Amino acid sequence: REFSTDENNGNQGKNGFKKSKKDLIGKAKSLLPQRKALPIFSAREKIIKEILNNKALIIVGETGSGKTTQIPQFLHHAGLSKNGIIACTQPRRVAAMSIARRVSEEFGTRLGDRVGYSIRFDDKTSPNTLIKYMTDGMLLRELLSDNMLKKYSVVILDEAHERTLRTDILFGMLKAIQKKRDDLKIIVMSATLDAEKFSEYFDDAKIMYIAGRQFPVKLYQTIQPQEDYLDSAIVTIFQIHTEQPNGDILTFLTGQEEIEAVEKLIIEHAKLLPVTAKKLIPCPIFASMPTDQQNKVFEPAPPDTRKVILATNIAETSITISGIKYVIDCGVAKVRGYNSKIGIESLTIQPISKASARQRMGRAGREAPGCCYRLYTEDAFEELADSTEPEIKRCNLASVILLLKASGVEDIFNFDYLDRPSKTSVARSLEQLYALGALNDDGTLSELGKKMAEFPIEPTYAKVIIQSENLGCTKEIISIVSMLSVDSIFYTPQDKREEAAEAKKKFVNFDGDHITLLNVLKGYQDVHGDKDWCYENFINIRNMKHVLDVRKQLIQFCERLKIDVTASCGHDHEVILKCLLSGFFQNTALRQLDGSYRAIVSGQIVYMHPTSVLFGRKPEAIMYNDLILTSKQYMRNASAIHPNWIAQTAPKYFGNRSLHTL
Ligand code: ADP
Ligand code: MG
Repeated sequence: REFSTDENNGNQGKNGFKKSKKDLIGKAKSLLPQRKALPIFSAREKIIKEILNNKALIIVGETGSGKTTQIPQFLHHAGLSKNGIIACTQPRRVAAMSIARRVSEEFGTRLGDRVGYSIRFDDKTSPNTLIKYMTDGMLLRELLSDNMLKKYSVVILDEAHERTLRTDILFGMLKAIQKKRDDLKIIVMSATLDAEKFSEYFDDAKIMYIAGRQFPVKLYQTIQPQEDYLDSAIVTIFQIHTEQPNGDILTFLTGQEEIEAVEKLIIEHAKLLPVTAKKLIPCPIFASMPTDQQNKVFEPAPPDTRKVILATNIAETSITISGIKYVIDCGVAKVRGYNSKIGIESLTIQPISKASARQRMGRAGREAPGCCYRLYTEDAFEELADSTEPEIKRCNLASVILLLKASGVEDIFNFDYLDRPSKTSVARSLEQLYALGALNDDGTLSELGKKMAEFPIEPTYAKVIIQSENLGCTKEIISIVSMLSVDSIFYTPQDKREEAAEAKKKFVNFDGDHITLLNVLKGYQDVHGDKDWCYENFINIRNMKHVLDVRKQLIQFCERLKIDVTASCGHDHEVILKCLLSGFFQNTALRQLDGSYRAIVSGQIVYMHPTSVLFGRKPEAIMYNDLILTSKQYMRNASAIHPNWIAQTAPKYFGNRSLHTL
């Protein structure tokens, strides 16, 4: 029995064989000294006492002090898992997965057994599970089927300082549940000191401070502003590698594309190092990374090797990697933003806050003195905001409003928010849900809205999938939506631009990127995911695997809602595009007399993203999935549509509106 679990990515032995119970316990024992050395260990008794004596507790402690990995285990040993599962929420999926894996090792059981995780499209728990790491979004979703969260005895809202939209909403939901459930414990954990707000929110709950350990970090800042931080990052990495003593490097970048570009450049440049020199190996870590590759960042570097970790801000406070001595901070991060005045959501690369910059710097001094290299000037640092604005103030609220409505919260304006979103922003989101058909005229959830809430994806995408049932194109739509779940399918090495462009041509369809993506997926499936095929066609195999994973999950969700996933419209592109438009009618732009494009809702000038197959073409009207703000607003993942389709698809929305045509 010990050898027959169905999981495939946890607690595996070196050669891929499952470990025996004895091995698991042995491993757990070997980790004990490390755990006992964590700053939190000495506060163990006190923490347990406070939790038993209080309904709500706020715990503040330096990143890496052991909050996330140890506190759920303390609670288990104090007997709290007898009355229900101990849940610990995380804003990031990769953090939930990697921490659960680590804690199951410390616990001495297989991942998914006593310790598990639950993230969108991946549930690794069992009826045995006592400690469950989960994304904040997943806990919010569980409220749909269990509105008192009866399964849980304790809910830990971790990384509360990040102020993600979903954690913020959980604050309100949990506070309301606790009024009706005396036995539920709530713990809020944060890495920064400004915890009074959380305490006040929970009726002046007690705050515990865990003393951390921090070694001095020497700070280097650039004298001149840097034109290209990727370039400066590479130069700095090699400078450290050739001039500085042992110790791994942690480089903060903004996203997968950047990380992969830097990874390739490091591999190339490293070939030029003298053969006798110490080796340099890049270890990427970002949100959509396949599970089997995430562990590499935690493994110690082999002898005579230096690791350079290339991370998004996931490594800022969510996960702690041992061995870091040098931090390189590019000073920016990718953030989700939403302009509620014009109703547009976009991803932008923005300067981080002073608080983030300090957290990043702190990563270098956790185990010994270290160095931090800021790729920006001291003046630039002084201009940064003190802290990042809570997401609820800057994101589209449609998806959480849909969830709130589906969980029985009718009055969205008067919900008990930790920070109240603006009235315009709530109104905009309600309007969008109404236009999508999710709300009735009186503001209650429609049948369509209830169905949409079942899908763990943005309401726009949920609408598109549900609409595909009516149009008979579910097969194609699921494939396209899965392809849109990753940053980019194509990769273009700097020195092989022409070959990459040539290879892409065989997939291109000038109806737009959506049909082109569909062609890529068909091609990939025809060769059964052949590695060489991906290589020859400049297709990112890592991302394709993720796409298939998402596709499988979407199919399961459809099947649960009895949507026929085999319904296909063949090569009828018009049906596919109209179906996509049923969710994305707000993301449309019309060609102007001078050849530029104006977004229909906002009236802003928007540009075609250079990666789009429509770049350089001039269709009369365009529908797009994302708007990316760099120097200009760029439409990404775009298709050509007929202008008449727009109002036809969303008569409720466009009925009494003047379109920005000229
Ligand atoms: P905090 O939540 O206070 O920031 P954590 O509980 O996440 O701290 O981390 C405590 C310790 O556990 C750190 O020293 C870290 O290196 C270690 N750790 C956490 N996750 C892993 C992992 N996946 N692999 C190896 N070590 C880990
Ligand atoms: Mg933590």
